[in-house]
Amino acid sequence: MTAIPEAELKAYLSSSGAFLDGHFLLSSGLHSPNYVQCALALKDPAWAGRMGAALVSAWKGPKPDLVLSPAMGGLIIGHEVARAFGVDFLFTERENNVMTLRRGFALKPGQKLIIVEDVFTTGKSTLETAAVAGGRGAVVIGAMSVINRMGSKALPFPSESLLKLDLTALPAEQCPLCRAGSPVVKPGSRKF
Ligand SMILES: [Zn+2]
Repeated sequence: MTAIPEAELKAYLSSSGAFLDGHFLLSSGLHSPNYVQCALALKDPAWAGRMGAALVSAWKGPKPDLVLSPAMGGLIIGHEVARAFGVDFLFTERENNVMTLRRGFALKPGQKLIIVEDVFTTGKSTLETAAVAGGRGAVVIGAMSVINRMGSKALPFPSESLLKLDLTALPAEQCPLCRAGSPVVKPGSRKF
């Protein structure tokens, strides 16, 4: 369980295609010179396991009773974090757009858990997952992600990420790439 040097992690994110340089139209409508598709970094099980172990070794809080992740993004890395902690892995999912626990998964009052995601972007899915846990009396002791791109925003519990990315996103009229005449690409609109 050792940390992954930042330069090595960044090189892997680029070589796996997870971290792209270019000119992207984000779902927010903003333009960005970078795009992150973490699923591409998690397709290699050895790397997924290594990233899960690195998150656990960086964690300074108490050991959780279980790991809880929102589907889909949190499934693989959450499972690997749970493996490294040696605890169970459960996931939440949306039903009629509401985050919920299904499939017979149950939480007991007082159970301590860590929420694990691939990327913290707005924190919305993490907070929705925390609400599901809190509604069942479980205690969220922290949250983890491979990448944190929340900028100056913070989650309301201790958190750990392997890489903090300060990704610039700007409206089209302020975008230097547009000004330079570069065509904007919508992620997913071509094969990455
Ligand atoms: Zn642009």
